[in-house]
Amino acid sequence: MKITGMKIHVVMVQTNREWIFVELMTDEGLTGVGECSDYASTAHLVSGLEAIKPFIVGMDARNIEDVWQKLFHGYSDLNGRGYVSHLISAIDIALWDIKGKALGVPVYQLLGGPVRDSVPLYSHIPGRLSARSKKLDQQIRAATTAARNAKSLGFQALKTDPFSRQWSGEEPQGGEMVERLSPGEIAMAAELMMAVRETVGPEFELLVDAHARFDVASAIRAARALEPVNLVWLEEPVPVESLNALREVRENTSIPLCVGERHFTRWDYVDIFRERLVDYVMPDIAWTGGISEIRRIASQAEAYFIRFSPHDALGPVMLMAGVQVDMATPNLYRQECVHEFFDDYARVITPMFDWHDGAVWPSERPGLGIELNPEGIEKYRVDPFDRRIGRPFQFPSRTVPTVKWGKS
Ligand SMILES: [Mg+2]
Repeated sequence: MKITGMKIHVVMVQTNREWIFVELMTDEGLTGVGECSDYASTAHLVSGLEAIKPFIVGMDARNIEDVWQKLFHGYSDLNGRGYVSHLISAIDIALWDIKGKALGVPVYQLLGGPVRDSVPLYSHIPGRLSARSKKLDQQIRAATTAARNAKSLGFQALKTDPFSRQWSGEEPQGGEMVERLSPGEIAMAAELMMAVRETVGPEFELLVDAHARFDVASAIRAARALEPVNLVWLEEPVPVESLNALREVRENTSIPLCVGERHFTRWDYVDIFRERLVDYVMPDIAWTGGISEIRRIASQAEAYFIRFSPHDALGPVMLMAGVQVDMATPNLYRQECVHEFFDDYARVITPMFDWHDGAVWPSERPGLGIELNPEGIEKYRVDPFDRRIGRPFQFPSRTVPTVKWGKS
């Protein structure tokens, strides 16, 4: 079964958030869909996909591992981890979709069959919250109301970042992109999280994301201040470039830790697992190398009795790819999602997946179980090289020079 073509669709249903979908066509009439959406890199990723298209066309769609290995090692001079693994992810997910359709089964059947009936989710406390805001009372009211609403929809786990400088309107300057938290900011964040804890009750699961931003001293003090909230995890407390920094946080708090969305492929996890630096890992299926690679990382984690919990805060195809893996993965904690996006997902995929009681309930449809909706794709299609698209995430516009992308 030869790959005969690749279509790239960039759509924007939500302002400033693009989704990159890839469709692979075959000479047997089957097509598969993948995704490699990211926050800041749309033009780069679309350029990369265009560049590898001539190499993909003509390959055997049945040989998923062979395609994976050829792309990964073929671009080793770019370092296969990160940019290249994003590109591989879109291709790999589409090939698994094709294989499922060719054999008439959901992808989770190809991964060994289901070990659960549904995939438990965790979502986000909606809105832009920050204990750094001057109006802490207002922030606490918004957070507790949002948490109560999510709980009423059936969610039993929620994540938020109570330290966000972006949401509070402060702009980090170039010299302080690795942020220091003042004792007052830490106290306010702990107060906000404790208010949420009191609202949702002791059984509800709460997670905090630090987005890999803090210096070691700030991360340790924040972790200790959050210990009474009884979190599931503190996520990415320090920048990911140094495992020494992560180790120092690990040795100085009892709070469970999670990393993964900024780690790519199985090799980035070797030392993390060997030293048991975290309790959970959260690789992103659209960034780390697709279904093939996230499955391998989940197995690595299982060997260390570490839970697996795929990162996902973007489009619907990557969510459904993650759900397929989650169905067949014994050491799953939960699948990340942003439930506020679900109505927008229904605009670009068909059929919309079934979700209720804080979980996704996969169908018996072959492959990923969903297709792109052509009318929705055309309605929301954007030019990935428009310079208003794919700007670096979180960088304030006034400190970044205007960049002319591609053909803008
Ligand atoms: Mg995160």
